[in-house]
Amino acid sequence: MVPPPTATTPAPTIAPLRVVDRDGHTQFVDRHVGADREAQKFMLDTLGFDDLGALADAAVPAAIRQDVGLDLPAGLSETEVLERLRLLAAKNVRMVQMIGQGYYGTVTPGVIQRNVLESPAWYTAYTPYQPEISQGRLEALLNFQTVVSDLTALPVANASLLDEASAVAEAVLLMRRSNKAVPDGVIVLDAELLPQSIAVVQGRADALGLDVVVADLDAGLPHRDITGLVLQQPGTSGRVRDQSGVIADAHARGAMVTVAADLLALTLITPPGEQGADIAVGSAQRLGVPLFYGGPHAAYMAVRQGLERALPGRLVGVSRDALGATAYRLALQTREQHIRRERATSNICTAQALLAIVAGFYAVYHGPEGLRRIAQHGHDAARTLAVALTGHGLELTADAFFDTLTVRVPARAHVVVAAAEAAGVNLRLVDGDHVGISCDETTTPPHLAAVVAAFTDRDPGAELAAPGERAFALPAGLVRDSEYLTHPVFHQYRSETQMLRYLRRLADRDLALDRTMIPLGSCTMKLNATTEMQAITWPELASIHPLAPDHQTVGWRRLIADLESWLATITGYDRVSIQPNAGSQGELAGLLAIRGYHRSRGEHRRTVCLIPASAHGTNAASAVLAGMRVVVVATAADGTIDQAHLAAKLTEHADELAAIMITYPSTHGVYDTDVREVCDAVHAAGGQVYVDGANLNALVGLAQPGRFGGDVSHLNLHKTFCIPHGGGGPGVGPVAVRAHLAPFLPGDPAGTGAWSDGGAPVAAARFGSAGVLPISWAYISLMGGDGLTTATASALLAANYLARRLDPYFPVLYTGESGLVAHECILDLRPLTAATGITAEDVAKRLIDFGFHAPTLAFPVPGTLMVEPTESEDLAELDRFIDAMIAVRAEIDQVAAGAFPAEDSPLRHAPHPATVVTATQWGRPYPREQAAFPLPALRRDKYFPPVARIDGAHGDRHLVCACPPVTDFA
Ligand SMILES: *Cc1c(COP(=O)(O)O)cnc(C)c1O
Repeated sequence: MVPPPTATTPAPTIAPLRVVDRDGHTQFVDRHVGADREAQKFMLDTLGFDDLGALADAAVPAAIRQDVGLDLPAGLSETEVLERLRLLAAKNVRMVQMIGQGYYGTVTPGVIQRNVLESPAWYTAYTPYQPEISQGRLEALLNFQTVVSDLTALPVANASLLDEASAVAEAVLLMRRSNKAVPDGVIVLDAELLPQSIAVVQGRADALGLDVVVADLDAGLPHRDITGLVLQQPGTSGRVRDQSGVIADAHARGAMVTVAADLLALTLITPPGEQGADIAVGSAQRLGVPLFYGGPHAAYMAVRQGLERALPGRLVGVSRDALGATAYRLALQTREQHIRRERATSNICTAQALLAIVAGFYAVYHGPEGLRRIAQHGHDAARTLAVALTGHGLELTADAFFDTLTVRVPARAHVVVAAAEAAGVNLRLVDGDHVGISCDETTTPPHLAAVVAAFTDRDPGAELAAPGERAFALPAGLVRDSEYLTHPVFHQYRSETQMLRYLRRLADRDLALDRTMIPLGSCTMKLNATTEMQAITWPELASIHPLAPDHQTVGWRRLIADLESWLATITGYDRVSIQPNAGSQGELAGLLAIRGYHRSRGEHRRTVCLIPASAHGTNAASAVLAGMRVVVVATAADGTIDQAHLAAKLTEHADELAAIMITYPSTHGVYDTDVREVCDAVHAAGGQVYVDGANLNALVGLAQPGRFGGDVSHLNLHKTFCIPHGGGGPGVGPVAVRAHLAPFLPGDPAGTGAWSDGGAPVAAARFGSAGVLPISWAYISLMGGDGLTTATASALLAANYLARRLDPYFPVLYTGESGLVAHECILDLRPLTAATGITAEDVAKRLIDFGFHAPTLAFPVPGTLMVEPTESEDLAELDRFIDAMIAVRAEIDQVAAGAFPAEDSPLRHAPHPATVVTATQWGRPYPREQAAFPLPALRRDKYFPPVARIDGAHGDRHLVCACPPVTDFA
């Protein structure tokens, strides 16, 4: 039996809400929460409550309310938090990082670091689902795709996956889906694949029952039916091989082939596309993205013609707007899990947009000659070492390499690595007899001298001789002779002034949180405070290699341990792992933990996952990836889970039930009162309860999923805990579990052989996207337990104020028994659409003319908008949004009254770029002023979108996913 989590818990006695006395602007919480005390009083009066506590008491069902405040340290000032972060950072040891294994030293150009990575115009943007306000970042992502496509010599590349190891796993699944010739054969992994990629693929394959073998390909392909082959170029040992032969052999036997390739190496060596590969994957980290102790880094995938529709992740494409002008948007969106749920190509939602953008700009700034020079620098450094080391009689495992050597030092490897460490250099301890060395953009002659000294008794002060031109040169057949990055964008911005202005021009085309509220339901676009962001680029944190020995990373691991324990306290669970690098990966890790638990008890048949019809699409997609079968539970008319249907499904699948995945508060933004009963019923049937924690911003300090019935949740630190969205990533999706699931949390991907601790790893690095964790660490430290609770109650207040004010114009679809919503509300456009033809999409596009990013469109209910203001918006901004929505409603009424037809209304023609409203020809049945300045305040602060409404279908029919010629913009 599953330990009953709720039956033994005494009924909670509700403690009065301890909100911070918000007195003057002295504490951080006063800066994080947008509305001041007077404004909150006004909003509370509007709703008829005396204080935040009374509102929370009414909104949150007593049955789930947590009985005591959060046991967290009291909130600190910004100065104190930065001071503590400095002390933690100082406990890490900065080294020359030559460990390699997918992570290399690189220089983030200052102009990109400050104006992209550290610029709110870029990092606070949302995923570009509203393309008209996202043209800048879509262009930046298209640059990234063009870099990947050119360097791999494959025609279609996506705009990022989560890390190299999971990208390899995605490629394996793609081959398995697409290979109709040999659908059920084995997947062969090159023994030269990065160890973390092998570990992640093995975990994913195990859940799906895929047969995977690791093979030394020097002995030829295994004599089996092969569905897919994965090669690495250069290999994990550093060796560069001509792979055209093995690729041709694999193809002749009906297998598909993926090459995991180093983008920088591909500036010098023959790319996978020219060697015949179907798919290329890898990491773009070394294109200007710091090591970040393992992540976030953008991974890429590129495919040959014919596979583009099976490609996972987001794909930026070129389309046209209503005026026929070239415009960018996300292509083939219907492939995403949002729409296809359990039939999706992958569960990836949040990816690594910001890091892909940085990598793309790195290539724009350096251009093809610059990238080639940087690659050549690393290659020459490795050749210099090779000459010196072999000159001392040492042996290399390969003579053809790019920037990484493996040196044979029988029984001396530990001694060499220790000697290098003493000289400030981290080398790779391959095993007792081998040491790996990776050179890169940052390698200098003194580094090389120190390395040679660690292997020999040579004087570390003496200079090394430059290698002769032919010494350790790349094999002639593998020297790249094809061109890349020929598009003008990679040639126009060489001076810093040009680059700065290019970055600014693109940023100015977009709306991000630095300009307007982004009231996206379920996405929680709240303040990403500057203080929270500050530490992430400090070199004491950012320059640490994920495979550095633990004694060099004391500060990092302390920060991570703090964060994991605070998140456990907040959620009421026993253990947390921050390894998953997006919500989707947290879901997968959580479901794999459930799977591991059932199997550990011999219950292998428990594979059915119940998912409510209204669930986020990632839930179903993740369940499939965890080897589960999705059974949909109906939603009742009031938006809650249909209890009768649930009971029927529990009976029907009693013996096979693995879990239910629910979202709480529900995706409808309502606290269902019967959640405990749902959990109890599932537990009674032997199932586990997965609570999707994406809506935790409605719970922190008020209720704990680990106490009201959940066995496992994932959280989205890029929602509730202030990591910015970055235009579609990075994210962190920690998985939190009760004690019985703790043994099945993700293990260390660098662990040798079977996962050394816990379950299968889900990310390439042990701590996933560690680099952005200081943001959430700082947020919790600044707020303290009471501050966090105040934030939650303030989020409820803002959402309920909006709901109350807008309901007369756009009916709020669902409320709880109290008549209140939780932290978001769904506005029902369907009656107005039926009466006038004006759709929710028209309203979303018209809001752009008011300078707003639209609320969530058509999720979870088609024909509606879901609004989540968050606690960070002040009353004036809430009112500005309300005024815009009321003005939009007045325009819909004009359509209803016959002032203009829907198809010739300002709503359908929205958004209105400056070119449209200033054109000599007008001829529309509404004035230009109404088009551009529908409210008086817009006369002073006006955002004009760079394009008119974009035709999505056109772009999908004419798929163009690399930079279009400049003439398209003439
Ligand atoms: C955002 C969200 C997810 C997915 O999170 P990602 O980080 O984008 O993978 C899952 N479930 C719900 C309800 C969400 O809102």
